[in-house]
Amino acid sequence: MAHEVTLIPGDGTGPELAEATRRVLEATGVEFEWDVQQAGADVMEQFGGNPLPEPTLDSVRRTGVALKGPITTPVGTGFRSVNVSLRQDLDLFAAVRPARSLPGVPTRHDGVDLVVVRENTEDLYQGIEFERGSEEARALRARLRDLGGFEVREDAGITLKPISVSGTHRIVRFAFEYARANRRTKVTVGHKAGVMRYSDGLFLETARADARGYPDVAWEEIQVDHLSARLVRRPSDFDVLLLPNLYGDILSDLCAGLVGGLGLIPGANIGWEYAVFEPVHGSAPDIAGRGIANPIAMILSGAMLLRHVGERGAAARVEAAVDAVLLEGTVRTGDLRGGASTTQMADAIASAMRSS
Ligand code: NAD
Repeated sequence: MAHEVTLIPGDGTGPELAEATRRVLEATGVEFEWDVQQAGADVMEQFGGNPLPEPTLDSVRRTGVALKGPITTPVGTGFRSVNVSLRQDLDLFAAVRPARSLPGVPTRHDGVDLVVVRENTEDLYQGIEFERGSEEARALRARLRDLGGFEVREDAGITLKPISVSGTHRIVRFAFEYARANRRTKVTVGHKAGVMRYSDGLFLETARADARGYPDVAWEEIQVDHLSARLVRRPSDFDVLLLPNLYGDILSDLCAGLVGGLGLIPGANIGWEYAVFEPVHGSAPDIAGRGIANPIAMILSGAMLLRHVGERGAAARVEAAVDAVLLEGTVRTGDLRGGASTTQMADAIASAMRSS
């Protein structure tokens, strides 16, 4: 039976990458029924000003699983990120972003094999914001003065950082269950609990208590600034990184940099009911429309999707074909110092799969 999957091509490089990925996934022989849906600033007008149209959300609620290209968030326009909204509306509370050294991609460190597990719905990304100079910001400043004598400057914009026990429990348990299921031996939590006692502090204490329920998985706590320094020096010290939302976002790009760049790193957003697979990178507007973006990050996101829908063999074949093409080294996109197009790279991966 064909797997029904929502396909959200996105914008910028998204549509080119989505097409390339679809071709590779279909070359596995697994059957798909794609429900193509739109989101982003480009389709807002068509949907009454909504960049995340209801039919798109309804489709994911129906199919349970989506493959998504990146979507641009215009900066400083008051436009709320579609990516963040999608994760919140579908309660996709866990982002999983594996970073491993790839054959034929020389980097400073060999043998990197780690996974960022990022809380995906709370923290500074929850979207509770007060614009500088607004009536709401003025009222909040007055309330903060009354409540705790906190003085916030009149010309400040404000973003709140809520982190809850319930939101933390589920991501911590997810990280440990993920570690067990994938034969990983250590979970390292990154935090700044010394400074943010009631948000990061709560995350750390909750995680520490839950970690006791997993004596078979090693546990490590580290301040996120120190973690950054250690990651760039000795990434092989780490296995699963458990991080609140903002740190997880930043450090997953750092981990992408460790293994050869954003064009290579896949991602999954997982909740109890739905899962959306997308590369870690953004819409790459600087190279959009030129057919030169590296499709590997999105193709490997597709491999994660295959595994999620129970097609383990096909997932492994896609990953092996990516490795084979990288190792062989003649077909490479510009980010890997080659001259191949997105389509050529995808075709090379599809044909490596067929001949394996
Ligand atoms: P970006 O990830 O789009 O690009 C950063 C750099 O990496 C650029 O030089 C780009 O050319 C390069 N790059 C990214 N993907 C590549 C690929 N597949 N192949 C080759 N090179 C690649 O980050 P940005 O420029 O900060 O963000 C652009 C837009 O994307 C912003 O609007 C941002 O909000 C949005 N964004 C979306 C998502 C998402 O959809 N999940 C994630 C991150 C950023």
